Amino acid sequence: MALPSQVFTQRPSQRPQTTAHLAQTMSLLGLNSLELSQKIEAALAANPALELLEGRHCPTCGRSLRKERYCSNCANKVTPTGEEPVVFISPPEDNFGRGSRSGEEIPEDYSGAEPENLAGYVLRQIAADLEPIEQEIAAHILTSLDEDGLLAIPLSEVARFHHVSIDEVEAVADMIHHADPLGVGASSTTEALLVQLETLGEQAPNFELCALAIREGMGHLSKKQYAELGHMLKVSRAKAQQIAEFITHNLSPYPSRAHWGSLRTPNADTPGVYQRADIIVRRQDDGRLVVEVMWPLRGILRVNPLFQQALKEAPEEKAEQWKVDLEQASLLIKCLAQRNQTIVRLMQVLAVLQRQFILSGDAHIKPFTRAGIADELGVHESTVSRAVAGKSVQLPSGKIVPLSQFFDRSLHIRTALKKIIKDEPRPLSDTKLAKLLAKQGHRVARRTVAKYRTMEGILPAHLRKAQAV
Ligand SMILES: [Zn+2]
Repeated sequence: MALPSQVFTQRPSQRPQTTAHLAQTMSLLGLNSLELSQKIEAALAANPALELLEGRHCPTCGRSLRKERYCSNCANKVTPTGEEPVVFISPPEDNFGRGSRSGEEIPEDYSGAEPENLAGYVLRQIAADLEPIEQEIAAHILTSLDEDGLLAIPLSEVARFHHVSIDEVEAVADMIHHADPLGVGASSTTEALLVQLETLGEQAPNFELCALAIREGMGHLSKKQYAELGHMLKVSRAKAQQIAEFITHNLSPYPSRAHWGSLRTPNADTPGVYQRADIIVRRQDDGRLVVEVMWPLRGILRVNPLFQQALKEAPEEKAEQWKVDLEQASLLIKCLAQRNQTIVRLMQVLAVLQRQFILSGDAHIKPFTRAGIADELGVHESTVSRAVAGKSVQLPSGKIVPLSQFFDRSLHIRTALKKIIKDEPRPLSDTKLAKLLAKQGHRVARRTVAKYRTMEGILPAHLRKAQAV
């Protein structure tokens, strides 16, 4: 499909870049806003030449913003005044209440997001990585969860039923455990906790002690018997209490009771962590689309002017290191600016091309490729891939979707498939579904129907029957 050329109002001149600049820009592009804030916090802690200028500033030009929602100077450079979409890098609100802005509210109930059952939600996350037989195994496991999200039957039973080895079943179970909510489908509360602990990895202080407490001290943990737990772990009572509290506050023995589903980012790279969307798209009263690319800091980065001054009088043994600090600080700032500019230009293009999808939903998606968009932007395809990776977008309906969904070439067909299944008088086989899709102009093979069905977290016909009763 050809791209309308009037979309691109500006093409910044191609400046020659150093390898270090390119590499760092690419790595920053791949980060979502949570990861970006962690990266910047780490740089601030390590580099004295870098400074956070606090307050509400335009993250693009640094101008101080008072009551304005965004810097019109910078937004107008992306899209001329009066046209749409308005795209800008959005600094956080002073008081966190985003919904309290006058004139527009984020819907409290996120009504655009359909409620979903846990089995379907999990199946959809892992579907793309499953072979047909593994899909059957996953469906079997996910329809055998108890109300806590734990597996109520032994894995050996699943293996026998599908005539496969226990190893194969365990491999699928392992993928399920690592989907969101973390630990779902585990055979016991102990196993669920251990999966979550492992995912935290080095972020968990006293990792070994926590693991031991979970493996052998569940009785003491549940009864808050810190002295006994300490005795078992060979640590003080206070230490044991600290470990128990870390486990209670950060891990959940009952995966299904953890937060999961539509309020979280689907397919997030960091499952188990609640995330706000990285990009928010709204529709203004005048009908224009407004795209906010979230900036994660309460302030903007700059090179510390005092440090620059101090460098001139630096003692000889420090001068070399300080120069490196200064260079790295200014490189990071440049690369961040480039990252932001790339995401802004990408969103400007996507908001125009996928306007109908943004406003009217999945059936209206247009099949664009990353390569096509990259061509139009005058960048390499890998730049677009990085910019899209791991990001989530909140649509005007309140629904949060991965940015990669804007490039989903089968979404309109899957939407049609979902509608057919929702309205089916009795569970229809994949062959029958393929025929009904063909009637609507979507010619796909039976195997493809099975694949799309699994991607949507919908069980095969015989299991849909089982669920209906
Ligand atoms: Zn600005």
